[in-house]
Amino acid sequence: MKIYNTLTKNIDEFVPKVDGVVNMYTCGPTVYHYAHVGNLRTYIFEDILEKGLEFMNYKVNRVMNITDVGHMTSDADSGEDKMLKGAKREGKTVYEIADFYTKAFLSDMEKLNIRIPKVIEKASDHIDTYIKMISKMIEEGYAYISGGNVYFDVTKATDYYKLSGKNPEDLLIAVRDTVEEDSLKRNPFDFGLWFTVSKFDNQIMKWDSPWGVGYPGWHIECSGIAYETLGEYVDIHCGGVDNIFPHHTNEIAQSEAFLGHKWCNYWCHGAHLNDQSGKMSKSKGEFLTLSLLISKGYSAIDYRYFCLNSHYRNTLVFSYDSLDIAKNSLSKLKKKVATLTENGLSDEEAVHKYKSLFALAISNDLNTSQMITLVYDVLKDSELNDATKVAILKSFDSVLSLGLFEEDVENEISISDDLKQYIENKIEERNQAKKNKDFEKADSIRKELLAKNIKLIDTREGTTYEME
Ligand code: AMP
Ligand code: ZN
Repeated sequence: MKIYNTLTKNIDEFVPKVDGVVNMYTCGPTVYHYAHVGNLRTYIFEDILEKGLEFMNYKVNRVMNITDVGHMTSDADSGEDKMLKGAKREGKTVYEIADFYTKAFLSDMEKLNIRIPKVIEKASDHIDTYIKMISKMIEEGYAYISGGNVYFDVTKATDYYKLSGKNPEDLLIAVRDTVEEDSLKRNPFDFGLWFTVSKFDNQIMKWDSPWGVGYPGWHIECSGIAYETLGEYVDIHCGGVDNIFPHHTNEIAQSEAFLGHKWCNYWCHGAHLNDQSGKMSKSKGEFLTLSLLISKGYSAIDYRYFCLNSHYRNTLVFSYDSLDIAKNSLSKLKKKVATLTENGLSDEEAVHKYKSLFALAISNDLNTSQMITLVYDVLKDSELNDATKVAILKSFDSVLSLGLFEEDVENEISISDDLKQYIENKIEERNQAKKNKDFEKADSIRKELLAKNIKLIDTREGTTYEME
């Protein structure tokens, strides 16, 4: 298995610490809002990587965190806590926000046929571990207390810039807009491990610590959860490219300071999905969620297929035109698969040959478009009987997870134009009722639609819907 390693800047042969077993850590969402489809692209890439490793006969121990505290609007320690921002926006507590958006995230994952990692840990459940790690780092001179907060001193880390491969001057220029001067830090890239001095007096997630009541920084969460769930070594650590600096850089600095040895050998990063105007955002422009795409008549798997047609290391630009193309090709592909019958015996030699070719595509730095080309090659191969094609495609789909053999869920194939119009009229009628403070009527419209298995979803950008 060969994969691009951000740490070495090479496509490396993947060799885990223990033969045949992979400790895989994947940074999870900050649950202050819905995931946008860009975030979901990264989780699709990680899903393919996990299933690809399994296809290559590795046993994968995968862990993901859920960030419910400590992540500021800027990835450095400035700005507002994202969870507090979400709570203020919706007039709820951070706990309610975390709970609601965790469920929404898991539901998106399921719709996209992303396997939910067996181990998912909430950042707020591991405070004792962070305190233990921070205490040791202070004792050993890696961290210092300043003005009531605890910071990591990046000058003490071995080769702090090795993952990003950049020098501090370039990084400062790159992040100038997001790094605010914090007079409590010794060096501009020092980062918070524990905060007791907060600009936000209404921070309700806080815990006792040797340094006063406060809360952990964002980066220590992943190091702590990885240590607790996977032990002293992680084989492969993933996230989107924005995580390279500062998040993963800081994870390495802390974990290696705490453990006293190299921590993770392979770092894999998914390129971004941008929208037409550039960086995808949850607050500006159209907030591209999976529910929004579904409400427009696409299925979650159309979106998955759209992502898999590009290599995970290439930046992708979202457009409805490209999604239409993906939707149509997937629909045609599924129609072809549906014509196959399982009659007859499968040709085991041919199955083996195609599975080896598929393994080569996985080993080729997770080349998903090559994997999809193989699906078409199998369908076209006149030497193969249907039973053989079915056997091969089922094994491919254990990785691709395009539901090639599943019937389309009715709502996701296409909602008729009439039905769309009917729902939109009802939404408009309900908006009017809400405007006129006729909440009884608004609620009865919601119930009327629910009785028809149409679930309304109210978002800040308006109301969308989902077929139950
Ligand atoms: P967050 O919830 O902001 O912590 O991000 C969750 C995941 O999505 C992280 O792995 C990010 O690196 C990744 N991510 C953020 N923006 C994008 C994007 N536009 N395209 C792909 N992945 C992204
Ligand atoms: Zn992380």
